[in-house]
Amino acid sequence: MRKNKVRYIFVTGGVMSGVGKGTACSAIAAILKGRGFKVTAVKIDPYVNVDAGTMNPTEHGEVFVLNDGLECDQDMGNYERFLGQELSGKNYMTTGAVYKSVIERERSLKYKGKCVEVVPHIPLEVIDRIERAAQRAGAEICLVEIGGTVGEYQNILFLEAARMMRIKNKGQVLVAMVSYLPVPSKVGEMKTKPTQYAVRTLNSAGIQPDFIIARADRPLDQKRKEKLAVFCNIREEDVISAPDVDSVYHLPVNFEKGGMGNMILEKFGLKSRKNDLDQWEKLSEKIKGLTKTVKIGVVGKYFSTGEFVLSDSYISVIEAIKHAAYFNGVKPELSWIDSLDYEKRPKKARELSGFDGIVVPGGFGERGIEGIITAINYTRENRIPYLGLCYGMQLAVIEYARNKAGIAQATTAEVAPQSKEAVVDLMPEQKEKMKQADYGGTMRLGAYPAVIKKGTRAYEAYGNTKISERHRHRYEINPEFIRRLEKAGMIFSGTSPDRKLMEIMELGSKEHGFFMGCQFHPEFQSFPQKPHPLFREFIKAAIA
Ligand code: GLN
Repeated sequence: MRKNKVRYIFVTGGVMSGVGKGTACSAIAAILKGRGFKVTAVKIDPYVNVDAGTMNPTEHGEVFVLNDGLECDQDMGNYERFLGQELSGKNYMTTGAVYKSVIERERSLKYKGKCVEVVPHIPLEVIDRIERAAQRAGAEICLVEIGGTVGEYQNILFLEAARMMRIKNKGQVLVAMVSYLPVPSKVGEMKTKPTQYAVRTLNSAGIQPDFIIARADRPLDQKRKEKLAVFCNIREEDVISAPDVDSVYHLPVNFEKGGMGNMILEKFGLKSRKNDLDQWEKLSEKIKGLTKTVKIGVVGKYFSTGEFVLSDSYISVIEAIKHAAYFNGVKPELSWIDSLDYEKRPKKARELSGFDGIVVPGGFGERGIEGIITAINYTRENRIPYLGLCYGMQLAVIEYARNKAGIAQATTAEVAPQSKEAVVDLMPEQKEKMKQADYGGTMRLGAYPAVIKKGTRAYEAYGNTKISERHRHRYEINPEFIRRLEKAGMIFSGTSPDRKLMEIMELGSKEHGFFMGCQFHPEFQSFPQKPHPLFREFIKAAIA
C-alpha cells in the first residue's frame, strides 16, 4: 500500500463530554472493518499528563493498559473490543507526550537551529504520530478521536493538525462531530442550537464537519435533521441519528441502518469489499433475547463524584462481565457497592447474600480497603462466587491470611510499609522507584507470560498451561508467606514462568464453589464475541 493512500476520519465532540464519542468511534471502526478494510484507531487526549497512569479514576475514568504497557484512556479499550484487535501504545497521545517529544528533539538539535514554535511544530508532531500509527498498523482507514469538546482551549492544536492534514491529503480526511441534542423537560422539544454553536466553533478552527452523529435520548425527527442541515451547512443524509441504546453493542448494526457505512465510503470514493456485520447482528439479537439475569455486586472505592455515582472507573470490568454474561445466556444486573459503607457498618455486608457473585476490581491506597476485606470475608464464608482483580486478589489473600492462616495482622506494605506481616509487599525492583518518587509509567505494566498448574480451576478455565495477561501493579504476594498460605488451603494456580510471582490464587472446590483472584487484569482482554475465560467461568458459577 502506498504511504499516501491511508484515509483518516477525525472524530470531534460537541456540546458536552461523556456522550459516547469513543463508542461511536469504535462502532464506525467495526463497520468499516466489516466492509473489508484494514482499520485502526488513534486516541488523542488533550491533558498535560504524559499518560493516563498517574490519574485517579474518579478524575478521568478507568486507566486502560495495552499489551506494550502503555497506560491510556478507556477509549483504547473500546477500540480493542470493537475491532477485536490489539492496539499499540503508538495509537495514543496526550498534549504532555507530544510536547515531551518536541522538547526532547529540540534539546538534541534535531530542529537544526530553527526556532521551534507551538504552530506549526506541535501539530506537525501530532500529524507525524498519527501517520506513524496508521503505517505501523498497516491501516487503510485510521480513525482519530480528539478527546474533549470543540471550544476547549486545550484541543485547538489537535484541531489544527486535522485542518493541516485535510489540506495535505485532499479527499482523504473526513471530520465527524459527535454532538448532543438535549430535550429540556420544561420545553419538551429537542433543541439543535447547542449543536449549531458547536459546529460554528469547529468552523472557527477552519474545519467544516463532513457528518454529524446526533446523540440524544431519542431518535432525531425529520424537522431536526432539516434544521441541522441548514444551520450546520451539511446534507440531511450526513446527519446520523444516534439515540440512547441499552447496550453499546447494538451500535454497529444501528449505525449501518442509519446509512453510516455507505455515507463514509462514498465520501472517500471507496467501494465496499464485503458487507459482513454478521457477528454484530448475532450479538445484538442475542442481547435483545435475554430474559434471565445474574446479579453481580462490584465492591470498589472509585465510585463517587460529588453526589453522583461514576461507573466509568471500572468500564472494562463492566464490559467483561457483560461479555461473560451474554456468553452464558444471561443479562447482568450490576450494583455498585462503595466499600466505605462497610467500614462504618460491617454488618451491612450481609446484603451481599443478595448477589449471585461479587467482583472486587483493582485499586490503590488505604481508603476503603478494610471495607473491602469485610466484604471478601463475607463472600468467602458464605460461599458466594468471588473474582478479585489485582488489588482484589491481594486483599483476598490478606483476608485469608488473617482468618485462616493465623497471620493476625496481615496487611499490605502499600498501607503499612513497616509491618512484619505484610503478606503483600513491594516488588524488589519497585523499592528504588518509590524512594525517588518515580511514579509515572514505572509499575509492572503490560503483558507478561504466566504458567498455569494442571488440575486447577484456572486450568479448567484457560484449557492451557501458558497464558499472557496484562498487568498494572507495584506490589506482589510476599514470597515469605506463600508456604503458610498454602498450608492453610490457598492454591496458587498461576505463577510467573520462574515461579517467583503469584499470578492466580484460588480455593479448592471443597472449600468454596468459586473463589479466585488474579494479579493481572483479565478485563483488558475480554471481547464481546470472546469473553475472557476467568469471567466466563465466574459468571457460570454465579448462575449455578
Ligand atoms: N495497589 C496494588 C498494587 O500496586 C494493586 C494495583 C491494582 O489493583 N491495579 O500492587
